[in-house]
Amino acid sequence: MKALVYEGPRMVGVEDVPDARIERATDALVRVTTTNICGSDLHMYEGRTDMETGRVLGHENLGEVVQVGAAVDHVRVGDLVCMPFNISCGFCGNCEKGLTAFCLIANPTPAMAGAAYGFADMGPYEGGQAELLRVPYADFNCLVLPPEAEERQTDYVMLSDIFPTGWHATELAGLRAGETVAIYGAGPVGLMAALSARLKSASKVFVVDRHPDRLRLAEEVGAIPVNDADASPVDQILDRTDGIGADRGCECVGFQAHDPQGHEHPNMTLNNLVRSVRFAGSIGVVGLFVPRDPRSPDPLYKEGEVAFDYGLFWFKGQSVGNGQCNVKAYNRELMRLIRTGQARPSWIVSHELPLRKAPEGYEHFDRRDRGWTKVVLHPNA
Ligand code: NAD
Ligand code: ZN
Repeated sequence: MKALVYEGPRMVGVEDVPDARIERATDALVRVTTTNICGSDLHMYEGRTDMETGRVLGHENLGEVVQVGAAVDHVRVGDLVCMPFNISCGFCGNCEKGLTAFCLIANPTPAMAGAAYGFADMGPYEGGQAELLRVPYADFNCLVLPPEAEERQTDYVMLSDIFPTGWHATELAGLRAGETVAIYGAGPVGLMAALSARLKSASKVFVVDRHPDRLRLAEEVGAIPVNDADASPVDQILDRTDGIGADRGCECVGFQAHDPQGHEHPNMTLNNLVRSVRFAGSIGVVGLFVPRDPRSPDPLYKEGEVAFDYGLFWFKGQSVGNGQCNVKAYNRELMRLIRTGQARPSWIVSHELPLRKAPEGYEHFDRRDRGWTKVVLHPNA
């Protein structure tokens, strides 16, 4: 089959690889029709992880079930399904509690929890930027979609990751109706956090970035764009919240945060959030903070230390929630919001490409070229 393969820092290619296949009785095989490039793929693409060359990328997947293992009894051949990016067993202690991002079974590496498709350190599973995808624990890991999803795949595919992840950012922050929220990052995740905050009836939703095209998309869902290339985003938010700061904050950038001049500051958004959010407010961090030392044989992250202003954070009595999104905890309800038309997450899609053009998509999305907000691939088009 054809698949998008990691070949080294900023090098990916579409190659012939062995067909994905059923390996265990609980697997399903899916013919991928829609799959996205994610900001999380860029950590691997940029060579920031120890992703092995030859691995297939892609964790935001939707497609048609073409074969099921002998022990699969809910999902059927012909079902249109969307897969949470987390691969989870459904029966371990964490999955039982809904913490599927921290499944204790699906990742076979000792001392690691959590697995995903096409990800460094998240288990041996290949990604879905390919014609076929193997889905482990298929009855648990396939969300069966309603018939109209066939025609609206670019909306429904967002259930695999970024819509639930944006929602998760607002949940971690404890956002309630009527409150104000400061969201850092107007990439796909930050934009989904803005959509989620609007759906939860936040009174003011600030979105900070410096790309005018992305800020315009934030405005389209009713958020207030804050361009940090114009002036300090903290001052802009304090000015518009009576000097108090926002009730809640969402971090949707991660450790590759940089200043408008392009210099990296892994702690920049955390420090800005502590200053933008009020005393006793709270912050949800979904941006990735997992830099790993590629030379270390230890599977746990060694270089994940990010110094931030803990003193001010403590003094302000703020709290923080963070981590990977437990997609399954949200995706049924969010699917209903798509079905009723209350949410149309495809508004951020800028490009739909055949798989052979995926390397071009990576290049533009990685440079945050103007107008390249979310790239969707159709491997079987
Ligand atoms: P992206 O890189 O397209 O978006 C990041 C945005 O942040 C860009 O628009 C960039 O201009 C902006 N930015 C950079 N520095 C900034 C700063 N100092 N202040 C404000 N904005 C700044 O990526 P994305 O797809 O939106 O993903 C965002 C993050 O979320 C990534 O770290 C990704 O790995 C992570 N993520 C986490 C989960 C999860 O489960 N927790 C799921 C998906 C993605
Ligand atoms: Zn993703």
